[in-house]
Amino acid sequence: MNEFMVEAEHVHKTYGENHVLRGISMQVRPGEVSCLLGPSGSGKSTFLRCINRLETIEGGKILVDGELVGFRERNGKLQELTASELAAQRRDIGMVFQRFNLFPHLTALENIVCSPVMVKGERKDVATAHARELLDQVGLSEKAHAYPSELSGGQQQRIAIARALAMRPKLMLFDEPTSALDPELVGEVLEVMQQLAASGMTMIVVTHEIGFAREVADTVTFMDEGVVVEQGAPDEVLGHPREARTRDFLSKVL
Ligand code: ADP
Ligand code: MG
Repeated sequence: MNEFMVEAEHVHKTYGENHVLRGISMQVRPGEVSCLLGPSGSGKSTFLRCINRLETIEGGKILVDGELVGFRERNGKLQELTASELAAQRRDIGMVFQRFNLFPHLTALENIVCSPVMVKGERKDVATAHARELLDQVGLSEKAHAYPSELSGGQQQRIAIARALAMRPKLMLFDEPTSALDPELVGEVLEVMQQLAASGMTMIVVTHEIGFAREVADTVTFMDEGVVVEQGAPDEVLGHPREARTRDFLSKVL
């Protein structure tokens, strides 16, 4: 096993004139939960999208499980991966967004079964058995045949998590998974994520849920304006922030 599941070194990303990521470095060990905090516009979503190569980076490098994201090294030179190689790399990384993005015309079970069958060529009975286990894991066995419109936001987000897990990812990325939910539905989603963390999944979680970060994270990274301002154990970064920018942010979200 590699020492790090994710290793990002001096990552730079620009959109036109906008230098969004200005040398982001972070490491996540297998089985760790890493929470990423920061004000809106600081580059958190962009960074997650770079990890699964929904965006290309202009400087630095990112390795996932020891493999360079988006490139291969040959004779000391970097070559871009082909579209199918990239798709293969991306398959191992699950992503859950703020909006649940479930297919509205498919039931909960069908939403979970479809990717393993279509993308990985898994046998339908195998994928269905796995999907039922995942429905159980997220506490929604009885909703297997419900359509997204018949589910609450919290239930839809739990199905979205199950759907990502159906691909048997080695890394899960969460981009503000509870930000679009009514407050009373946040807890059930965080609980599923906490259980997933306890099961040993490696996770990077962008969140404003400081309680979750404090309880579940191994490492907290505070980002602002495309740089890492502060990084460390939750007790340090959240309990005794060294930087004024971190303190200022925390005073606004707590
Ligand atoms: P955060 O997730 O921390 O709120 P983002 O990563 O979404 O921040 O955005 C960081 C900056 O990058 C913002 O200035 C945003 O406007 C810009 N940005 C994000 N995505 C794009 C895009 N696809 N094209 C152009 N600019 C973008
Ligand atoms: Mg964002």
